[in-house]
Amino acid sequence: MVSSYGEGGKILAGGQSLIPLLKSRLFAVPHLIDIGRIEGMRGVTEDKKEIHIGPLTTISEIESDKVVREHLPALGDASSVIADPLIRNAGTVGGNVCHGDPSNDIPAVMHVLGANFVLEKTGDRRISDVENFFVDTLQTDVRSGEILTGIVIPNPPERSGSAYLKAEKRAGDFSLAGVAVYLELGKGETVSKLKIALTSSGPKVMAVDGLYAIIHGNTLSPDVMGRICKRASSVSRPVDDVHGTAEYKRNVVSMLTGDAIKIALDRAKGGRR
Ligand SMILES: Cc1cc2nc3c(=O)[nH]c(=O)nc-3n(C[C@H](O)[C@H](O)[C@H](O)COP(=O)(O)OP(=O)(O)OC[C@H]3O[C@@H](n4cnc5c(N)ncnc54)[C@H](O)[C@@H]3O)c2cc1C
Repeated sequence: MVSSYGEGGKILAGGQSLIPLLKSRLFAVPHLIDIGRIEGMRGVTEDKKEIHIGPLTTISEIESDKVVREHLPALGDASSVIADPLIRNAGTVGGNVCHGDPSNDIPAVMHVLGANFVLEKTGDRRISDVENFFVDTLQTDVRSGEILTGIVIPNPPERSGSAYLKAEKRAGDFSLAGVAVYLELGKGETVSKLKIALTSSGPKVMAVDGLYAIIHGNTLSPDVMGRICKRASSVSRPVDDVHGTAEYKRNVVSMLTGDAIKIALDRAKGGRR
């Protein structure tokens, strides 16, 4: 049906982004194709190399999943701060990424965890990596006739940790800013890999580049932490609005970056999950 309707059909998963758009008449489409009950596209499984997430897994299921909590704690963090339990019970992880909203919390986490997205249509299957998947505001690499059928994340090694933090005006709101962090420890206390991505900080999820030069061979000393936080806030491109000025939001990014790194570091050392 997705292939044959093409632009005239729209996939409906949990409906938590699509239905509000349709109700407010911001978007209209002749056919809705409800994929919500396809059992084979739900659940989280792991092998030594990879973690496979079915796109129809609800945000609530992600939040409480054992594999996610143990290996992908940033994804658990993000899921637990999305909207409220009603929306988390219906909304799916696949819908969250396919909507392409720069204020959605899961894309930044997918970025730092190096996710790959499996896109299928009749007679064809391809992989879109996270660098290419998020194209622009409300625009992803999902093409006409395609369905996201799987999300594949490399199983993080020992001595790695991740975290996600967001600042919001009231509990359950979209964020003023959100920060996802993934790091791996090298020899001793040095950091061998650091990835950071930002929510609500530009037209799409914003990946923070230039980090390798800062961390290379270094421990997370106060000086290094200061440089990382400064780099993250300089990459963010927020706008002034009723929730705060762009300058205020850049400061929030800087603060959240420092706090999220500390949590990820603690997790990498085998501390609290
Ligand atoms: C009041 C409110 C507050 C919210 N707060 C937050 C928040 O704080 N943080 C946050 O991240 N999100 C928030 N959301 C958004 C919500 O979390 C997401 O809408 C939800 O995860 C989307 O998933 P869904 O299954 O409902 O997608 P749907 O609404 O069904 O679909 C969304 C889009 O993805 C496409 N799609 C869905 N599944 C697939 C698939 N498998 N293959 C291809 N295309 C697909 C649909 O065609 C549609 O374009 C909020 C929503 C509401 C209504």
